[in-house]
Amino acid sequence: MTLLKAVRGTRDLLPPETELWNHVEATARRVFARYNFGEIRTPIFEDTSLFARGVGEETDIVSKEMYTWEDRARAQSEKSQSLTLRPENTAGVVRAYIEHKLGESGLLQKLYYIGPQFRRERPQKGRYRQFWQIGAEVIGPPSAGSESPLRDAEVIEMLSSFLDELGITGWTLVLNSVGSASDRPKYVAALREALAPVKDQMSLDNQRRAETNPLRVLDSKDPADEAVIATLPKIADFLDDESKAHFAAVLSALDACGVKYEINPRLVRGLDYYTRTTFEFTHGGLGAQNALLGGGRYDGLSEMLGGPKAPGIGFAMGEDRLVLTLLAALDQSVAPPQAAAFIAPLGEGLNAAALALARELRHAGLSVELGDGSFRLKKSFEAADKTARAIVILGEDELKSGILTVKTFATGVQTKVPRAELAVFLQ
Ligand code: AMP
Repeated sequence: MTLLKAVRGTRDLLPPETELWNHVEATARRVFARYNFGEIRTPIFEDTSLFARGVGEETDIVSKEMYTWEDRARAQSEKSQSLTLRPENTAGVVRAYIEHKLGESGLLQKLYYIGPQFRRERPQKGRYRQFWQIGAEVIGPPSAGSESPLRDAEVIEMLSSFLDELGITGWTLVLNSVGSASDRPKYVAALREALAPVKDQMSLDNQRRAETNPLRVLDSKDPADEAVIATLPKIADFLDDESKAHFAAVLSALDACGVKYEINPRLVRGLDYYTRTTFEFTHGGLGAQNALLGGGRYDGLSEMLGGPKAPGIGFAMGEDRLVLTLLAALDQSVAPPQAAAFIAPLGEGLNAAALALARELRHAGLSVELGDGSFRLKKSFEAADKTARAIVILGEDELKSGILTVKTFATGVQTKVPRAELAVFLQ
């Protein structure tokens, strides 16, 4: 029989590495709570048109990377429907914002999510077909201050605090402004005009983008196209006064709290809904897939999905990449966790009593490994040495007297400990 394996681009996350995933998620929850964010969980699949409208038909994500299928009707009352595994979570959050009329509270909605996303990309280190994102959105009616540049700066400052608290050093924050919904068409027209005479000199992908979505040309990583891209007009020259002032206010708030950044006029990002501020945090240790996270403002997205005016700003971090970065700092491996004690029953007749002792210690908050009475003492010692800091021997005598024999591996010392004091002794 052929062996079944995890599908290309997907992987199993195993202990002890999953400890690191939990640590990343716990840190995110802790930091986001300090900024008063609440958690949202949206479905993993949605109506395909949510992404077509929200992310943009011409993006790589929608045009070639989505997992889409025709979901058959199961009853006469149902219609078959085109569904898609979510390739990102912002569109789902904004759909939920509209569906649940969250804007009617008049308050800013500050929502974060943690979960898997799906894109049929070419797998490589740091790029998977199922990957995890931790993201957040600040969205609300303009009267709640959702358009304020302070929101952009606060979100970016939160991310720098999160990375610091997680212990990821050496990141770079790159920022740009892609202008308002009215700045972008002017810029796109100028790009198109500048690209027309030179596009033949570029890769086939960029020749196509020059026609369909010229902004995407700036995203290109193909070194052969660099020379042409360097000659193209810059978005900064097309921003109206309001967009310029907005961007300047974001920068001055970041300066005020000492968050360092670089400005990259080519940072337009791969999704169509962005307006004004766009940003990315990159890390040199990641290789080709060097973006730890990306985000930006999306002032027209709610209207694109048929909702009320609801400007917003958000980001998504690649959790896989956060973990890769932490792993590199730990020399690629996480030390397996050590239990406080390994209980070794001497004979199968003592197995039940050993479980009762383990229960006692676990209720006291200790992590305990339970051996088996069929093990010879030598085997129990070997197993204990690999998984726990100490071994507790439970024979008939120990059970009767209530005095247990404990050996602590770090010191090599063997002592007798009364059962009532055992939990404190092992702590
Ligand atoms: P995006 O939703 O494309 O703006 O991506 C936001 C972040 O998600 C990126 O900066 C990456 O860290 C991460 N990411 C995006 N696509 C993948 C993928 N295929 N595999 C792993 N991480 C990804």
